[in-house]
Amino acid sequence: MRNPADYISRRAHGVDASGIRKVFDLAAKMKDPINLSIGLPDFDVPDAVKDAAIAAIRAGNNRYTQTQGIAPLREKLRSELSAEMGRDVGEVLITSGVSGGLLLAMMAVIDPGDEAIFLDPYFVMYKHLLTMAGGKPVIVDSYPDFRFHPDRVERAVTPRTKLLILNSPSNPTGVVMTDAEVAAAVDVARKHDLLLLSDEIYEPFLYDAAPRGQGRLPSAGRLYDKTIILRGFSKSHAMTGWRLGYAAGPEAVIAQMTKLQQYTFVCAPSPLQYAAVAALDVPMDAAVAAYRRKRDIVYNRLSRKFDVVRPQGAFYIFPKAPAGQTASDFVARAIEKNVLIIPGNVFSESDTHFRISYATTDEKLEQGCDILCSLV
Ligand code: PMP
Repeated sequence: MRNPADYISRRAHGVDASGIRKVFDLAAKMKDPINLSIGLPDFDVPDAVKDAAIAAIRAGNNRYTQTQGIAPLREKLRSELSAEMGRDVGEVLITSGVSGGLLLAMMAVIDPGDEAIFLDPYFVMYKHLLTMAGGKPVIVDSYPDFRFHPDRVERAVTPRTKLLILNSPSNPTGVVMTDAEVAAAVDVARKHDLLLLSDEIYEPFLYDAAPRGQGRLPSAGRLYDKTIILRGFSKSHAMTGWRLGYAAGPEAVIAQMTKLQQYTFVCAPSPLQYAAVAALDVPMDAAVAAYRRKRDIVYNRLSRKFDVVRPQGAFYIFPKAPAGQTASDFVARAIEKNVLIIPGNVFSESDTHFRISYATTDEKLEQGCDILCSLV
C-alpha cells in the first residue's frame, strides 16, 4: 500500500526549498525582530489605486477577464513600454505577478534537457522553476562585483542553451546593468541565437543617474526583439498581494504563454487589472527618493566594516560576511542579536554573503546596521 508521501512526483522532489524554509523557521522563533529580510516595500498601495480597485469591484468588474488581460491595460502597457524601448515590444500578457510570467515563460519555451543561463547570485525562483519545467539551470558566477561578464557567460553556452535570463535591478545584489553590459548580453544572445528573458520587476527603483541621461533602465528590450520583458506592480506599487505582472515580447512566445495561462491561472485578478490602469498614472518618485536615502544610509554604515558592492537599484544590499566565517554562521549570530537577515546561500551556490532588505523604517535600518557592524 502506498502512503500519501509515495504519490509525490519526481518534479516536486526535484525542488529543494530548504534554504528559505530555514530562514522562515528562524524568523518564527524571534520576538519583534529588526527584520531586514523582507522583499517588499514598506509603504502601502497608493490611495488612488485602492480607490480604483474598490470602484472596479462596485462597478461589477468581478468576472473572468480575457486570458490575456483587459484591453485598456494591455494597450497602455504596450504603448508606454514601446515608447520607452524605442520599438514595438510585441504582444502584452497580463500575468498573476511576475512569478506567473516566469512560470509561463519557462513552460512555453523549455523542453526537458534545455539549458537556461543566469548569474549567481540569482532570484531563487529561476532555479526551481527551470527544474520544474524539466530544464537545466546553468549558473554563472558573478562574484565579487556581481557584474555581467560576457566571457564567463559565453563559456557556459552549449548546444542545449535556449534562454539567457537577466535580472536588473537585481535581487539580491541591487546591481543595475549598464548599457554596455546589456549590449554585451545581447551580443551573446545574438551570437548563439538565444531567447532573452529580462526580469525588470524592480524597474522604478533606480538611484543613480541613468546612463545617457535617459532616466530609464538599460534594457535588452531596446536592442533585441527576441526579448521577453517581465515587469509588475508588486514592488513598484507595493501590490505584492494583488498578484499583477505583465510579459511583453515576440508574438509567437506570448501566444503560447497565453494558451498556458488559459489552463492554469485563467486570468489575473479582474478588478485589480482595472486598478492597475490607474496605477500607471501614479507617480512613484517620492517612494524612489525615500529608498535612495535608505540605500545611502545602509551603504554608508555597512561599507565601514563590510566588503560590499554599492547597490544602484531595488532595495537590497549584499555584503560579504566577515573573514573566517560562512554567511550562515554570521546570520545565526545576527539572529541571536535579534536582526533578521538572509544567508546568501539561499540565492547562491556560495555561502559567503548575506542579503539585507532596506525596505524598512530609517530607525530600524540604523539600529540593524549598528548591530551588524558590532559583530565584526
Ligand atoms: N522577480 C524577482 C527578481 C523578484 O524579486 C520577485 C519577487 N520577490 C519576483 C520576480 C516575483 O514577484 P511577483 O510575483 O510578486 O510579481
